[in-house]
Amino acid sequence: MNNIRSIILQTKKEGVTIITFENVNKWFGDYQVLKNINLNIREGEVVVILGPSGSGKSTLLRCINRLETVSQGDLTVDGMKVTSPKTDINRLRQEIGMVFQHFYLYPHKTVLENITLAPIKVRKLPKDEAEKTARHYLEKVGIPEKANAYPSQLSGGQQQRVAIARGLAMKPKIMLFDEPTSALDPEMIGEVLDVMRELAKEGMTMVVVTHEMGFAREVADRIIFMDEGMIVEEGEPTTFFDNPKEERTRRFISRIL
Ligand code: ADP
Ligand code: MG
Repeated sequence: MNNIRSIILQTKKEGVTIITFENVNKWFGDYQVLKNINLNIREGEVVVILGPSGSGKSTLLRCINRLETVSQGDLTVDGMKVTSPKTDINRLRQEIGMVFQHFYLYPHKTVLENITLAPIKVRKLPKDEAEKTARHYLEKVGIPEKANAYPSQLSGGQQQRVAIARGLAMKPKIMLFDEPTSALDPEMIGEVLDVMRELAKEGMTMVVVTHEMGFAREVADRIIFMDEGMIVEEGEPTTFFDNPKEERTRRFISRIL
């Protein structure tokens, strides 16, 4: 019982809550994009958010690091009240790495420079230490030999792995992924999912929006299904996919599988 995996599983079950949505509502003008969201995510948990396009998945994710503001209700992340104007947003964002569909690497900086930029500027790490950390994470995502390449010299899958390494180099407690493989050619999806699977195994807290159902079924501790701004159903993957309770969930699953 002393291996890392069992400790991680134990932590997940005993569950220190790290993200809490309480009655969260959000409007864009007159349009209500999030409707009474209540959600607790525990340390080490891997939560996959599914739902049709426009259901509010990205908005929910972006509220966590305050790329979007909550209109009403409370949101707490790692003890910091995201909804309070007093919260130090830079401190909040240091705890959260985010990976987007498009990688947003700086085209005129090398892979190493892309990864070390924030640790040097924000975390105030000395350059050599930041580079050591960057190389460590490049190793981890499987492309240590690309340190001095420019983004345009990499495939989409490699660029996304650099984006993941960049997120990890800030040593975040939480990683958010918004459709990280949706812009990739099919043959590159696997290599990015493999990196994410590894990260999940090591106990990273992850919130992932994806259409990759194999990944969701295999890696998620919990699936959240959203439709029209609401959480319609949630559950463990097996129950969710094989025995969904709600009609809307059933329709969604039958369309995508
Ligand atoms: P999903 O990620 O599930 O596709 P989003 O969270 O991106 O959904 O968007 C949910 C709804 O909110 C969509 O109808 C979208 O058009 C709308 N929306 C998203 N961002 C904005 C914005 N900045 N201003 C106005 N409407 C927005
Ligand atoms: Mg989206």
